[in-house]
Amino acid sequence: MITSSVRYSEGVSESINPAIVLEKIQEVVAEFRAKQRPENIEEWEWQLRNSISTPQQLEQKLGMKAADFVQLAKIYAIRVSPYYLGLIQKVNDPIWLQSIPNLIEMQDPEGIVDSLAEDEMSPVPGITHRYPDRVLFLIQSQCAMYCRFCTRKRLVGDPMKTIKDEQIRLGIDYIRQHPEVRDVILSGGDPFMLRDDRIDWILHDLRAIPHVEIIRLDSRMPCTLPQRITQQLCDVIKKHHPVYVLTHFNHPSEITPEAKRACELMVDNGIPVMDQTVLLKGVNDDPMTMRKLMQDLLKMRVRPYYLYQADLTKGTEHFRTKVEVGLRIIKEGLRGHTSGLAVPHFVIDCPGGGGKVPLLPEYVLDFNDKAVVMRNFEGKIFEYPQIDPNYYKIQY
Ligand SMILES: *Cc1c(COP(=O)(O)O)cnc(C)c1O
Ligand code: SF4
Repeated sequence: MITSSVRYSEGVSESINPAIVLEKIQEVVAEFRAKQRPENIEEWEWQLRNSISTPQQLEQKLGMKAADFVQLAKIYAIRVSPYYLGLIQKVNDPIWLQSIPNLIEMQDPEGIVDSLAEDEMSPVPGITHRYPDRVLFLIQSQCAMYCRFCTRKRLVGDPMKTIKDEQIRLGIDYIRQHPEVRDVILSGGDPFMLRDDRIDWILHDLRAIPHVEIIRLDSRMPCTLPQRITQQLCDVIKKHHPVYVLTHFNHPSEITPEAKRACELMVDNGIPVMDQTVLLKGVNDDPMTMRKLMQDLLKMRVRPYYLYQADLTKGTEHFRTKVEVGLRIIKEGLRGHTSGLAVPHFVIDCPGGGGKVPLLPEYVLDFNDKAVVMRNFEGKIFEYPQIDPNYYKIQY
């Protein structure tokens, strides 16, 4: 039996009184909703300005003890917006675990800072060229929220690692000089943290390169700050088609009317939207939660693409599940049990930079010259006979 009730008290400091914190959160959200936003500022920028991002704010706004988080904040960025905060229903629920810093992040001796060797496989800063025909291109180090489980914890939100225009230009030059690159994945950080005109500039320069066939934009903002998705942003993106947006939802309670509006707006503008989900202990590590998430994504026309086994990133060990958990989710929750469209590829991104490897539950029981013996989603056994080798001799 897989349980999602794994809770860790060690990292939640004694200074947290769950009832008080929850009350505080409700106050913050209510106060925020009551506030009048100045007219010249967009809702999403307003949300960012009112986010919690320092130990002092954790204390003032949430009644946590600032001193407990000073060390942590020096290593790992903190940011959570009133919008995302408003989705928390109780301490240590799936929304809380993803967004509120936890002292347990500081106790991960085994973790690896850059577990996917993205920096090592980088010919120029910001570009990781791991696969033959496509590159990962980091264009922004900031995010609307600093997810506690982030694989790029090493760089996101670090003011010393801000990505300058010059670096982006050199990245575009690299792509221009490498005709084998037909797919560019713009990531970060979160590319949608850039202003529309800067997104336009980068997409424009990439689109001008004849061998760049498709461009993908990775963004978690449709989930963490859906107010960012405006018609103006869609107008910029659709000028440079084919552009795909890869977003990132981890729990059904993130699929709010606001998130739905954001995703549907992109799709209505002809932008295909896919989802990448990370398998996280205490957040989505059971078949029923995952099935609901995938079905809810499809309802807003977002197609599940990858389900990631958690990486070995330092500071995130408390989120790791056993690999069997993911296999079981596919086997007992998804494949055959619901629309095939709701089934993402379950992958492990190989530590050390080997790329993504798909994993499947054991469906094939035997495979030989005569037949393939398979187990279906109900556990029934079926046999598919191989073609008789003599048939190959028939001339047409
Ligand atoms: C995931 C990833 C890609 C894209 O992989 P796809 O399987 O094509 O989605 C490209 N480069 C790097 C470094 C990646 O991590
Ligand atoms: S939005 Fe993405 S890159 Fe940013 S902290 Fe969250 S997981 Fe990491």
